[in-house]
Amino acid sequence: MASSDLTPVEEAIDHLVARARPITRSQTVALTNSLDRVLARDYTVPADVPPADNSAVDGYAVRAGDLAGGEPLPVSGRTAAGEERLTLKPGTAVRLFTGSEIPSGADAVIMQERVSVCGDGITVNGPVSEGQNIRRRGQDLAQGELALAAGTRIRPQEMGLLGSIGTADVAVYAKLKVAVLTTGDELVDPGQPLGPGQIYNSNRYTLLGLLAKAGCEVVLCEALKDARDATRKTLERAAAEADLIITSGGVSVGEEDHVRAVLEESGNLSLWRLASKPGKPMAFGTIGDTPVLGLPGNPVAVLVSFMVMGMPFIRACQSRTGVTGGGEQIPAGFSTEKPSIRRQYVRARKSIGDDGLMITAYPNQSSGVLSSACWAEGLAVVPENTTINLGDPVTYYSFAELLE
Ligand code: AMP
Ligand code: MG
Repeated sequence: MASSDLTPVEEAIDHLVARARPITRSQTVALTNSLDRVLARDYTVPADVPPADNSAVDGYAVRAGDLAGGEPLPVSGRTAAGEERLTLKPGTAVRLFTGSEIPSGADAVIMQERVSVCGDGITVNGPVSEGQNIRRRGQDLAQGELALAAGTRIRPQEMGLLGSIGTADVAVYAKLKVAVLTTGDELVDPGQPLGPGQIYNSNRYTLLGLLAKAGCEVVLCEALKDARDATRKTLERAAAEADLIITSGGVSVGEEDHVRAVLEESGNLSLWRLASKPGKPMAFGTIGDTPVLGLPGNPVAVLVSFMVMGMPFIRACQSRTGVTGGGEQIPAGFSTEKPSIRRQYVRARKSIGDDGLMITAYPNQSSGVLSSACWAEGLAVVPENTTINLGDPVTYYSFAELLE
């Protein structure tokens, strides 16, 4: 096989992303239900957060200048968090608590641990500087600034931030509707007995899990026999319902590989066979207007090609922006023997060896060994035409990062 027959991974990702049509359908959801959704508009800050100067500690508000003489200060008032702001009488202190608004006229807060209380007054141990222990109005978000941009995926911290600016309902993009079609005469659903020549359909569950993590809605999930007509009909039906069709298997070179053939005959096949290991027999095309991501059949290849090639495409279809993640450079705790024209994604995890942090590879890297991926916490990359020696830096992507 000449190297030119295989599309390099980077080129394949660019090809896919260039063909993604970012979703524009949007809906409003309650903030409570917004986790993992994608913001459909910019959110600007309607009012300063926090809305007033407030105390970072439990203690006493004073005017720093009043302490110059070292005299005790009488305590003239008390404000708890949630109570209205007081005015500091000159030459006195106000008792307050974390989150209490700073009395007008006060310019510092002294932690209670630094204060001796005697009768109605306090003496201060140690220096006091202006502004200390005061959280300034607007220090988190200032009125009018951009809080979160359209295209941001909502994590727990974004949920909190939206709450902090008073957002109860959130405009998000609709979830991408995905059809999952597994192919193979040999496949049987878990729960049924296995007949001769049969295996359980595991890819369906890998894909359902991946799509749930990716925030997609599965609108159709079917197992197809290796038959041309049925494959065509189901792909056409799926195209009418879904924003994206994901298939597994049936994209190799055999005469039982009907997905690729149907794309060629009845749709469009724009990408096929990648310089990736696992994941060589991967296809991309369209049926009608609907993109079809034709993943390989081997269980590890499904996982790896979804994460490496599928996720950038899905993120683009979800109108997501600002996704980073370039992996980490970590010394290899493994070596490879001969260079390959295909980029290899090694099921791996971080470990601590005698020389510190390193990447350990699962011993069996066969694309049929799904237990390698259950042991692993990420993928280490062996670049094209490269051998890795022990200690060489390799790029390592955690599964969490790949699925972000
Ligand atoms: P294919 O690309 O259809 O030739 O499939 C490649 C390999 O992956 C074969 O060994 C298939 O039996 C296996 N395979 C395909 N689809 C699935 C599936 N849904 N679950 C588990 N293994 C599968
Ligand atoms: Mg097959």
